[in-house]
Amino acid sequence: PRSLALVERDGRVLSGCARSPYYPLVVKSGRGAVLEDVDGNRFIDFSAGAASLNTGTCHPRVVEAVTEQARSLLCYTIGYMYEESSVELAERLCAVTPGSFPKKVAYGLSGSDAIDGAVKFARAFTGRSEIISFRTAYHGSTYGALSASAISLNMRRGLGPMIPGFHVFPYPICARCPFGRREESCDLECLKDIEEAFRLYLPAEEVAAVLFEPIAGDAGLMIPPARYVRALADLCRREGILFVSDEVQQGFGRTGRWFAIEHFDVVPDIVVLGKAIASGMPLSALVMRSEIADALSDPGHIFTLAGGAVCCQAALATLDVIEEERLVERSRRLGDLIRERLAAMGETLPLLGDCRGLGLTIGQEIVDDNGNPDRDACTRVCFRCWQRGLVLTFLGDNVLRIQPPLIITEEEALKGLEILRLALEDYRA
Ligand code: PMP
Repeated sequence: PRSLALVERDGRVLSGCARSPYYPLVVKSGRGAVLEDVDGNRFIDFSAGAASLNTGTCHPRVVEAVTEQARSLLCYTIGYMYEESSVELAERLCAVTPGSFPKKVAYGLSGSDAIDGAVKFARAFTGRSEIISFRTAYHGSTYGALSASAISLNMRRGLGPMIPGFHVFPYPICARCPFGRREESCDLECLKDIEEAFRLYLPAEEVAAVLFEPIAGDAGLMIPPARYVRALADLCRREGILFVSDEVQQGFGRTGRWFAIEHFDVVPDIVVLGKAIASGMPLSALVMRSEIADALSDPGHIFTLAGGAVCCQAALATLDVIEEERLVERSRRLGDLIRERLAAMGETLPLLGDCRGLGLTIGQEIVDDNGNPDRDACTRVCFRCWQRGLVLTFLGDNVLRIQPPLIITEEEALKGLEILRLALEDYRA
């Protein structure tokens, strides 16, 4: 009842530009992997605030770090002065990201602005203008990130023109190979498509960067084949193109490695970080080879409030929690367990189609009797889950997005799966 009243008020004053609610959940508070709504109902969280709460909601270490910092300095722009937490965090981020070469950091406030930054640094460093990204990519909502995104008409309709110089190629989604190949017959045609573009209309020496999601996140959590990712990185190296890994959604242990690109043994030139970096506080970061970072000078890429002390302290506490609670290993172990259980459930519930994932980033397809995507079933299943006390959302037409906080207990994870099972059975009944 209180929830519905708020949903109504919300609709009167908040634009619908940023929301697609699946059910009227009005979150009031939370701890770890459990959320509570304004009516006192409790939910297991399989969403982690769109993969931004790897340490869970209100991890005591993060709350303590934020509270402590807030007492002495909230944020004083680091554009005009120096401040320790921003330096310490940059040191830690340089150490934890792939690559043992000298690196530097530039801060932002969202994944989107960090992607824009990656484009700027790449253009400035290489002196080249063109940017390659992929169909189904979601890189963000600012015009730069938007120009590199190709996932939804709603993102672009009526908003053109985009920034010139962006080129979109097929993402290697083998299950839906755009070239009609199967694994046995695959000759990396999707990579050849880029090489052909280099021969026909896109001079490789004018390409500054490739923006790559190491897992196609919002497109349905698809995992590209390792040999494609490595070949793409080799192509970049041969042609002097910077390889940018967008880790905004998959970073900080989500996939069972610190960063998703590590699954492919590729070392990016620029790593883009956001979402989980500060456990829900607004912060993003670019971690770059030092020489790339030195290609821009003030005010080439500056946000007044970016790298503020409270957010940096939240990020430092987040790193501590990931390390001390061994969340990377935990993500791997629980991810395997959840996928195993989903596979077992699939034996009696034909609604469950393909299931894929790495660590605690799991995509579970919902299909109809003919094995085709079933959006309606997916919507209803998420709604039933909410009714039974599980927060679950979906991607694309029919992919359940299972991305719980990495601190979720095994018991909570299994309880969440049990709710999902009941919701699937309800739907079938
Ligand atoms: N890159 C990826 C891979 C993302 O998933 C997102 C957010 N869904 C973004 C960038 C944009 O991040 P933000 O919403 O913080 O701007």
